[in-house]
Amino acid sequence: MKIAIFPGSFDPFTVGHACIVERGLPLFDRIVIGVGINDNKRTLYSSAQRVEAIRRIYAHEPRIKVVGYDDLTIDLARREQARFILRGLRSVKDFEYERDIAAMNENLGGIETVLLFTDPSVAHISSSVVRELISFHKDVSAYLPQPKE
Ligand code: ADP
Repeated sequence: MKIAIFPGSFDPFTVGHACIVERGLPLFDRIVIGVGINDNKRTLYSSAQRVEAIRRIYAHEPRIKVVGYDDLTIDLARREQARFILRGLRSVKDFEYERDIAAMNENLGGIETVLLFTDPSVAHISSSVVRELISFHKDVSAYLPQPKE
């Protein structure tokens, strides 16, 4: 069974993240969305809120599991029996960072990273910009995936 971890802060989970999940689903049997819990990183939403919001979005999709984790992504991968890490590439800015992390995860855990391009229509959307808009009380609903009926 091909299982991939899609790790991130997801503070909040955006339509850009959802695009990567959608593009990953045909490649894997199961995707485990790993919500990183980092006490040193101040987040707008608590880890429980982030996990809950993503679970609601994918309540209809049995091939997606959502978990919080506070250790290394390779440790989460081992627990979930995943051999792959899924990440999104928005632009060249992401590239070098992703390459270094991918090399680390391959060396430490033998985990292969699969990088997917995002749809150009959502490539500019980032959690940090959405957080900033929220802080100015702007409507961000267009940037957040809605749960399917
Ligand atoms: P992290 O703090 O680990 O970078 P993020 O929640 O910011 O976590 O992002 C998780 C993953 O989603 C990363 O691989 C990132 O490149 C990808 N991602 C974020 N926004 C987008 C977007 N608009 N389109 C495609 N991928 C994205």
